[in-house]
Amino acid sequence: MTIRTDSPEATRAVAGALGDLLVPGDLVLLVGDLGAGKTAFAQGLAHGLGVDERVTSPTFTIVQEYEGRLPLRHVDVYRLDRVQDLHDLGFDELIDDGVTVVEWGDLVEQAVPADHLVVRITPGDADTERVLDLSFHGSRWLGRRPAIEQALSAPVAG
Ligand code: ADP
Ligand code: MG
Repeated sequence: MTIRTDSPEATRAVAGALGDLLVPGDLVLLVGDLGAGKTAFAQGLAHGLGVDERVTSPTFTIVQEYEGRLPLRHVDVYRLDRVQDLHDLGFDELIDDGVTVVEWGDLVEQAVPADHLVVRITPGDADTERVLDLSFHGSRWLGRRPAIEQALSAPVAG
């Protein structure tokens, strides 16, 4: 599905609606250029998961963990030299009991479990417009697709 937002707040609101629906083991890959809004999306997702702490870009840490309704792992793989480093991080075990959201997720898509959601963020026509494209991979996500699409297409407050 494709959703257009016209402000960072609107992007966070869409992500928040998604965050409400997440369950343990969910993996969300965020794809988009620098400044696309990946961190903004992760912030909204965190909010939807009940994380109170301020979510910032994890660039220097690779994995930042937050406490919410479920544990949230915010991962930035931009600095990973090799996909193998992802496994060295214990990535697969990391995913099990919480929610994992990965910035620059396209860099690791071949190496992560088949069940994942991809959120691709591209610029819109105006400065503050973004196009969010969600693609559902694997039965875990395909089965929930109607519910998620319905929840995210309902008008969300900025
Ligand atoms: P990334 O993590 O992809 O590098 P950030 O989320 O850090 O991007 O930054 C996105 C920037 O774009 C922020 O400065 C944000 O205010 C701005 N922005 C403008 N419009 C939007 C929008 N509709 N959605 C998300 N961010 C937007
Ligand atoms: Mg970022």
